[in-house]
Amino acid sequence: MKSILEALQSGLYIGDGAMGTQLMELGLAAGSCAEIWNIERKADVVGVLAAYREAGAQALIANTFGGSRWKLKLSGLERSVHEINVAAVEAAREAADRSAWVFGDMGPTGRLVEPLGADPRESFVDVFREQAEALASAGPDAIILETFGSLDEILAALEAAKSTGLPVIASMTYSRDASGGFRTMMGEEISAAAAALVEAGADVIAANCGTGPADYVEITAALVGAVQLPVMVQPNAGVPRLSKGRTVFPMGPEEMAAFVRPIADAGARIIGGCCGTTPAHIRAMRAAASLSG
Ligand SMILES: [Zn+2]
Repeated sequence: MKSILEALQSGLYIGDGAMGTQLMELGLAAGSCAEIWNIERKADVVGVLAAYREAGAQALIANTFGGSRWKLKLSGLERSVHEINVAAVEAAREAADRSAWVFGDMGPTGRLVEPLGADPRESFVDVFREQAEALASAGPDAIILETFGSLDEILAALEAAKSTGLPVIASMTYSRDASGGFRTMMGEEISAAAAALVEAGADVIAANCGTGPADYVEITAALVGAVQLPVMVQPNAGVPRLSKGRTVFPMGPEEMAAFVRPIADAGARIIGGCCGTTPAHIRAMRAAASLSG
């Protein structure tokens, strides 16, 4: 396989889908720590990712979204950062079977950077560096920073991830604001956030979660218009709604796959799925990508 940054100069690649919901189907309790499964239920984690690879995913994201010390501390696992992140990348590499890229994943800590929160920026960089170094030690193709709603926090994560020397994909979550544009949770516009991420050294600019694929046609166009770098997007399976007290994502595989061509035409290089997507979604999306090749 070509190195990822070389490959992403052209073409269209399909990523994987949601991890958490797949693990819940296997018995992970809602709200409990998904990352400990990298050690205690490793075969199940490999199985979920292998199902995505068999469905046609060309990039697999390791199960480390909540693998920072601060997130793991909520489950009393703050001393297991290295072990958990290494096991996760190993599981993803096993599932990839040398025919998909593997991305180590870092998500938000749940804390706010000073002065909005109590922790200074340096503490964030330190927490993210510990995780990034653990991920890097297990040999992924890149690190992806996902679902960030704060530019301050993702820039701290980016600094830490860049220090490993690996390519870094920087993905923020945008949703439509009252004026019809898209903004992060903290109010940053797409163009400003993307420009700041480029300036700070991101290799791929990305968006994930927040909304469904229809909005992602517009989000992709805005990202592609703002930067010269490859763009990756991971929409949810439609806009979530509550049904009997549970959050459900309404969009089925074929309906979601119908957006692959419009999103690719808007300029995305990698299209994957976020909340609510399954191997069936990825299979339909890969078929749509091949047809439109
Ligand atoms: Zn999501």
